[in-house]
Amino acid sequence: MKLRFAPSPTGLLHVGNARVALANWLHARRHGGAFVLRLDDTDLERSKPEFAAAIEEDLRWLGLDWDERVAQSDRLDRYAAAAERLKAAGRLYPCFETEEELAYKRERRRREGKPPLYDREALRMTPEQVARAIANGKQPYWRFMLSPRTVGWRDLVLGERSVKLSAISDPVLVRADGSPLYTFTSVVDDLEMAVTHVIRGEDHVTNTGIQLDLYAALGGNPMHLTFAHLPLLTDEAGGALSKRLGSISLRHLRKDGIEPAALAGYLAALGTSADPVPGLPRDLVAAYDITRVSHATARFDTRQMLVLNRRVLHEAPFDAVRDRLPEGADEAWWLAVRGNLDLLREARPWFDIVRGTIVPPLQEGEHDFLAAALAALPPGPWDGATWSAWTGALKEATGRKGKALFLPLRLALTGEEHGPDLATLLPLIGRDRAAFRLRISAGA
Ligand code: GLU
Repeated sequence: MKLRFAPSPTGLLHVGNARVALANWLHARRHGGAFVLRLDDTDLERSKPEFAAAIEEDLRWLGLDWDERVAQSDRLDRYAAAAERLKAAGRLYPCFETEEELAYKRERRRREGKPPLYDREALRMTPEQVARAIANGKQPYWRFMLSPRTVGWRDLVLGERSVKLSAISDPVLVRADGSPLYTFTSVVDDLEMAVTHVIRGEDHVTNTGIQLDLYAALGGNPMHLTFAHLPLLTDEAGGALSKRLGSISLRHLRKDGIEPAALAGYLAALGTSADPVPGLPRDLVAAYDITRVSHATARFDTRQMLVLNRRVLHEAPFDAVRDRLPEGADEAWWLAVRGNLDLLREARPWFDIVRGTIVPPLQEGEHDFLAAALAALPPGPWDGATWSAWTGALKEATGRKGKALFLPLRLALTGEEHGPDLATLLPLIGRDRAAFRLRISAGA
């Protein structure tokens, strides 16, 4: 078994790409297959090496690896050779019509009530006419002659699918400058690299019909290929995700503080009835089953992803995050604050609260209470029982309880109304800081 993820390095990876990459990787790993990263970079104008590098970095960040890396730009001779084979078989034919001529023809067919298909006029040119056109300085581009049949396959996600090739224009495989197009390069690679499973977006269903025909024309046995098309993603409101691609690139999510285990866990369950569980790809392999993906569009809900992000952080051991924590952060502090975080960067203020300096708000109406609290501060050393001993004594002394007792203390000690458990936090803050903050907050 061999699978491939084939991004075009014309931009940053977004969550739709990541979902496809993850599905291929998980399916390969689940069944002991190979996973290939193939850069579809034959569009020389739009492909950029920096995007290729960014894609690889982002995939690694997500927790994916690959057994082989291939760039289509290194395989141009293979595509040229395959094109010659198709020409010899009479399946690749030269065309000379310009964009304007084609547009005009489409318009005319539309007016006649016919579908705007290419009419194969170029196929009727005699060899002499072709030779004359070339002698006159015209460079042909090349179309693949589709078979007059309906191509069917059993899709692992969509079920029985078919594409009627007579309803499609013969696709251009090679441009006038000799550069091959994706429809073509992809099939040559899948065939020559012996890819067995193609998992990609539903937007490629028509391509699959065309590519299966091309695969057979190049001598491949289409029975050796299995397809799974993942339904497209929508945003929370049900709109096409592509409109907001820039805002949900992996780069952006990473910068925003989304953990790879949250994104991977979320994407692996997306479109299935399973509850998403956080996990790095390697932890998701055993439970992954592509056939559980529904054929309905799936909604990418950032709030649900955030719920997973929270779970990842709440369980994260110190070692898993220490490189990304403020300088000087220690395990006791991390364990005290992690349960309070949605995003890792929210840890920073808690570092200042516990280990650094903050100026708590002035609580004018609470002067007497805070002064009593200061006076009742137990002597050191402090431990996990200090908080309840202190607040128990204060309760006795002042008659306060609940919010009236705890909120002024929390505000004075942390500057925040909410936060981690104070029983854990108080000994970390320490007696000197606590006393100082109570004094400031009391206005004394
Ligand atoms: N480069 C294509 C894309 O990004 C690959 C599609 C495929 O998997 O064949 O859509």
